[in-house]
Amino acid sequence: MLSVTTLLDVRNLTVELPTASGPVFPVNGVSFTIGVGEAVGLVGESGSGKSMLGLALAGLAPVGARRTGEVWLAGRDGAPAMNMAVLSERELEAVRGREIGIVFQEPMTALNPVMRIGAQVAEAARAHDSTLDAEGSRRRAIEALDRAAVPDPPRRARQFPHQLSGGLRQRAMIAMALAPGPRLLVADEPTTALDVTVQKQIVELLAKLRRESNLALLFISHDLAVVAQLADRLLVMYAGRIVEQGPALAVLARPAHPYTEGLLRALPQTGRKLQPIPGAVPPLDDVPPGCPFEPRCPYRRPECARVVPEPRRAGPDHFARCILVP
Ligand code: SF4
Repeated sequence: MLSVTTLLDVRNLTVELPTASGPVFPVNGVSFTIGVGEAVGLVGESGSGKSMLGLALAGLAPVGARRTGEVWLAGRDGAPAMNMAVLSERELEAVRGREIGIVFQEPMTALNPVMRIGAQVAEAARAHDSTLDAEGSRRRAIEALDRAAVPDPPRRARQFPHQLSGGLRQRAMIAMALAPGPRLLVADEPTTALDVTVQKQIVELLAKLRRESNLALLFISHDLAVVAQLADRLLVMYAGRIVEQGPALAVLARPAHPYTEGLLRALPQTGRKLQPIPGAVPPLDDVPPGCPFEPRCPYRRPECARVVPEPRRAGPDHFARCILVP
């Protein structure tokens, strides 16, 4: 049973990929929840498994991948919750978009370059609402562009993607994701390709959408500073695992995992030299057998290399996978 305010309940989600040297696990035993209208930030360096997790939630793992675990989505209007992990591809198609909208980092690769923006947004709306006729879906597209703060939506709707700036293309992508009326928006590095001013505008737009529509957000980014601007709760991912999760304020003020501490120290701050975390995220086929952060951890002990730490409670609703948490 999901609690009344839980929208998504992910339990022990694992993505296994076959490789020539044996299976690898870009997502490994991940569990977390997202509440109705809650903004959750998912952070970690490149290669930590964030994007694969975002895709796996919507059933979009790569060809050949095996997904295990449970992804419970609360039913609409009192309908029972459904475990998306057991749905067929056809059933998933009906749920994806309608319930979970996805926004990618580079809209140019997701938008059709030879189709007008309005037609693409209208198509997204019609794909999930067969009652919409041409005029209805056109109106829905204009509304969605307006909600995504695209200026002069009727004019922009007639343009092609290459006629829009990077920021406007990202807003058009957001409009496409919004058009079917999802309850959760997964935004994967939505601001990374944009300059700082436009980045800020997109973050503000997502915060506004969430406030006005009670839209839940999973905001994925390598940039803790960007995520911290709008997340209620943070998930910190490393080598396929969530190594720390908790209320954003608590995680930022009192990080319980040395990796989170390292990410915070690596943030630019006035009057202080940048302190990047030494070393790199391990490749998927060479993840250490114990704590995956052990080779880079300044606090490591001999036992860290032997056992993968279980999540330990660091505070109310705050957990970290580290033996140093009492
Ligand atoms: S378990 Fe050990 S190696 Fe891993 S983060 Fe904690 S102290 Fe560091």
